[in-house]
Amino acid sequence: MKRMLTDLNLKGKRVLLRVDFNVPLDDNGQITDDTRIYEALPTIRYILKQGAKLIICSHLGRPNGEFNQKYSLFPVAQQLIKYLINRVYFAIDVVGPDAMEKAKNLKAGEVLLLENLRFHKEEETNELYFARKLASMADVYINDAFGTVHRKHASVHRVAKLLPNAMGFLMGKEINVITSALNNPQRPFVAILGGAKVSDKIDVIKNLITKADTILIAGAMAFTFLKAKGYQVGTSVVDDEKLDVAMEIMELAKKEGKRLILPVDFACAEVYSPSSKAEYHTLQDFPENKMGLDIGYETIKIFTKEIESAKTVIWNGPVGVFEFANFDNGTKKIAKSLLKVKGTKIVGGGDTSSAVNSLGIADKLTHVSTGGGASLKLLEGAELPGIEVINEI
Ligand code: AMP
Repeated sequence: MKRMLTDLNLKGKRVLLRVDFNVPLDDNGQITDDTRIYEALPTIRYILKQGAKLIICSHLGRPNGEFNQKYSLFPVAQQLIKYLINRVYFAIDVVGPDAMEKAKNLKAGEVLLLENLRFHKEEETNELYFARKLASMADVYINDAFGTVHRKHASVHRVAKLLPNAMGFLMGKEINVITSALNNPQRPFVAILGGAKVSDKIDVIKNLITKADTILIAGAMAFTFLKAKGYQVGTSVVDDEKLDVAMEIMELAKKEGKRLILPVDFACAEVYSPSSKAEYHTLQDFPENKMGLDIGYETIKIFTKEIESAKTVIWNGPVGVFEFANFDNGTKKIAKSLLKVKGTKIVGGGDTSSAVNSLGIADKLTHVSTGGGASLKLLEGAELPGIEVINEI
């Protein structure tokens, strides 16, 4: 188990907290969605309650290593003030004189938000001297920025090696829930993988084959597998360069004694358009001039039966073009069947998360992962630089 912030004595300590305040801003610099600020509050409030002096750092957008007012974290500081009863200061630099001075004068229960880390190119190049300057402001380092743990950046990786470290609540939940489902699942363990490209998810599928009992493959991805098996899939999206990999994955599943289940019928259309009507076809009568844009009723039946009898379910990637109302049925039905799972149900990936959020069922699931890239890496079983550096208890 990785160390959590609750495992450290923070009283009177200067705590450097890495968060993900990469919030969307409109043209006037107004925050249009402050979910990321709001979600970091439990960790922030806990640290302050311990009587620590809190220095918060984050990136925002892609300023490419240079100061750019458009990407200033100042609007975030203003928003933070609205949520906290504590005094909040803002530093106009990251490791410059203003940050150093304000960090030095910070009192217990006060907050200092540093300017955007990515105003320094040294952040993304993981420079030691930049990490040393960040670390010099604090006694303890806490990372609560799950969305960036797969990045080997100075504020995520190098600085963690220079101070006693731990994970915040947000990140701890992501890591502990997902890794314990992967490594110590209640069985049957069913993984559902959908989405657009096979190439993005090859390593996820390979890793899940070794962990799960049953893998349900849908979305556009399924057509590469079906074509590799010799089926005619019309004009559906196929990753022709990955046909061999798809074959290799199916052989791996067989070798591991795992069930890899592919769709058997589809909602199809001639044109990829929100106004296209769904026409249903099975694999046996797939027309040459149509593409599959969603799974069909028989597949929904097969998939939901597997899901509902599982004790652990991990779902990544929509099973159809859920952005089009005529092709969102499969994704909706899969989402609803998750509610019947008596056990752990985890959803990851930006699109899948927004699908369960828009259905209003997110709070009935064990966990909805926030970090797209980071959660895929975790499902791949890859070493994540920001996690690897956090000490074990
Ligand atoms: P990903 O980011 O890989 O999870 O892919 C998500 C995207 O996959 C969504 O925008 C879906 O519209 C798309 N998708 C799912 N099923 C299909 C399909 N059958 N054909 C084309 N795109 C699909």
